[in-house]
Amino acid sequence: MAKHTVTLIPGDGIGPELTTAMTRVVEATGVDIEWETVEAGADVMDKYGTPLPEHVPESIRKNKVAIKGPITTPIGTGFRSVNVALRKELDLYACLRPAFSIPGSGARYDDIDLVIVRENTEDLYAGIEFSEGSEGARKLIEFAAAEGAGTIRPDSGISLKPISITGTRRIVKYAFDYAIANGRTKVTAVHKANILKHSDGLFLKVAREVAGEYADSGIEFEDYIVDATCMQLVLHPEWWDVLVLPNLYGDIVSDLAAGLIGGLGVAPGANVGAECAVFEPVHGSAPKYAGKDVANPTAEILSAVLMLKHLDEPDAADRVLRAVRTVIGKGEKVTYDIKRSNTGSTEGSVGTQAYADALIAEL
Ligand code: NAD
Repeated sequence: MAKHTVTLIPGDGIGPELTTAMTRVVEATGVDIEWETVEAGADVMDKYGTPLPEHVPESIRKNKVAIKGPITTPIGTGFRSVNVALRKELDLYACLRPAFSIPGSGARYDDIDLVIVRENTEDLYAGIEFSEGSEGARKLIEFAAAEGAGTIRPDSGISLKPISITGTRRIVKYAFDYAIANGRTKVTAVHKANILKHSDGLFLKVAREVAGEYADSGIEFEDYIVDATCMQLVLHPEWWDVLVLPNLYGDIVSDLAAGLIGGLGVAPGANVGAECAVFEPVHGSAPKYAGKDVANPTAEILSAVLMLKHLDEPDAADRVLRAVRTVIGKGEKVTYDIKRSNTGSTEGSVGTQAYADALIAEL
């Protein structure tokens, strides 16, 4: 029996070619993994009547660890994002997005090493919305007026922003535990508490309480307003260490951080809960590149590096990371996006699998 069994969701768009490159590189380290491949997304709708058949979360619950390629969310078809549904169903409350510089990736900076910890279950992404003109919107508008909370224009659509003590406690605790386990020195809570007193204000209050409980950990704590965070991330990206944010700010700031380190092609991620962890790149399915063997698999492969660490395979993780640094550092056998960032042209770039071959040769 293999030492590890991991659920593999190839996804769609560029997903299958990226996960193929990723499994080839991981297997070349010699680590003993058996992949349990399950399909999700629009392509399985006809067969199962749902983009997320029950055997997908069942497989992840059983194996506790999964890695996936991106999955397209078709606009206007009425089906919810499989990615969001999976995070909800498995209560993957922490979204971890490390952003570290890889010299040669064409990034603006080469001294970034920060980690975004995004709350994954509540805030404006809770999905509690009332469309313009609906009965629900009308009642809410009346309720707000009756409570003296404020006037909402009658032709408004409304999205709720719930932030709880429970959700905040566990994400801030996760950020501190992550900082301790990974030799980090500072946690910064990011918010807009000066304006959103009852949602972000609560987030900040609870974050300060949790920080108090970790006072002896040696981890420094500070808080920062989200808009100022964005500016300072661009001006001084080297300042930051672990950032913990409510869902929406976490989503936006992690794309900003991806931009600082060279773009979506190199930004890995993980969604972690108390029971299971699902590793995936930050980027989506980039349909226009699907099947062309051109997309950059680095984000998928760096997601596998996070997974290998999680599986307690630090040597394999280090070898893959070193190979990525070496191949990108040399700048020869790299995909179009990295070539273009470095030279202004895609000429001389290699395809997805040829890049994976170059990594394997460096392991
Ligand atoms: P996207 O990340 O798929 O693509 C945006 C652009 O980024 C691409 O056109 C391409 O230029 C570049 N890019 C992204 N990944 C790349 C890679 N690996 N190599 C080289 N270039 C890359 O974002 P989008 O176009 O907004 O979304 C497409 C679909 O993906 C949507 O249906 C969206 O819902 C879905 N999506 C899925 C996930 C997920 O599965 N977790 C995440 C984000 C978006």
